[in-house]
Amino acid sequence: MKKILITGGAGFIGSHVVRRFVTNYPDYAIYNLDALTYAGNLENIKDIEDSKNYVFVKGDITDKDFIDGLFTEHRFEGVVHLAAESHVDRSITDPLAFVKTNVIGTMNLLNAFKDLWQNNWEGKRFYHISTDEVYGTLGAEGLFTETTPYSPNSPYSASKASSDHFVRAYGETYGLPFVITNCSNNYGPNHFPEKLIPLFINNIIEKKPLPVYGDGKYTRDWLFVKDHAIAIDLVYHNGKNHETYNIGGFNEWQNIDLVKLLCGILDTKLGREQGESQQLITYVKDRPGHDLRYAIDAFKINSELGWKPSVTFEEGLEITVDWFLNNADWLKNVTSGTYMKYYDEQYSDR
Ligand code: NAD
Repeated sequence: MKKILITGGAGFIGSHVVRRFVTNYPDYAIYNLDALTYAGNLENIKDIEDSKNYVFVKGDITDKDFIDGLFTEHRFEGVVHLAAESHVDRSITDPLAFVKTNVIGTMNLLNAFKDLWQNNWEGKRFYHISTDEVYGTLGAEGLFTETTPYSPNSPYSASKASSDHFVRAYGETYGLPFVITNCSNNYGPNHFPEKLIPLFINNIIEKKPLPVYGDGKYTRDWLFVKDHAIAIDLVYHNGKNHETYNIGGFNEWQNIDLVKLLCGILDTKLGREQGESQQLITYVKDRPGHDLRYAIDAFKINSELGWKPSVTFEEGLEITVDWFLNNADWLKNVTSGTYMKYYDEQYSDR
């Protein structure tokens, strides 16, 4: 059996990737390595935990000895690396945590992979999952392409940019077979409710204020998480080594319009009067270094690998809102304890 290591598989995107690989590739043994930080939740992959080709490993990618031991023991054919500190606001209050996990953690994985690679082992590839935020911000026009220069503006995007550079450099310097993808904002089931769409869904349900940064004109491209998982599967199997692919939803929204859309959907589903939830919108102090607009040109992955989103934004949002309404226990568990303490610290003065 080919052993594939997926890191961060108990998190939002990772859980969808792990499920897809475990389900679609019974001849792979999928090792899901996750430290189970506040963002990691085994509930996200409960349905596949008894699968014969699935192994969960609790461990920290910043622990070099542990990572070296794991690679020596299992000689993974490939790595799909998603584990990361992923929340921009948290990176502003604790940047070092982002350097540790996103840079040092990635280095540990790269070094362990390189050691196998240099000992004539037929590994397939090191696949590093990254973000469009490494490109910085766009004005009103234009799109990020694979050749857009990196210009990260937050500690989160700087840490991801740094790890992207190390992966590429290991490809150039040591010949490591790597591939990188830079994707736009994801949304969907299992999304931790500190991020915009699940935060607003949760707050609308609970009739809590909807904190909108600045004037609400910040623009993001949104992609349904299962479409990202499909793209990751495609790139892992058919992408070219030493290449980067941008992944996006061709779906730009200003935050304020998106919030109003969600309010409308939930007013209907919750039997409220149209316009009722919009009254919860509260403009809050802007995030420092806030990027105005991200938008992805996904032409390369579309033309070379035939990938495009399989659902429209309307369909994806419908699935997402229904999932949150039908998984009240998941939401309740996640929005208690540590998460609530952090949430209170972030928003109590706004
Ligand atoms: P997430 O925060 O939901 O999940 C991250 C997972 O990594 C969690 O399960 C956590 O427990 C685990 N983890 C964190 N630190 C770890 C460590 N030191 N060792 C082992 N495991 C650790 O993140 P996500 O939104 O699912 O993002 C996954 C990846 O995709 C990240 O690399 C992120 O940069 C990238 N990405 C995310 C988006 C998005 O919109 N969410 C968009 C583009 C790219």
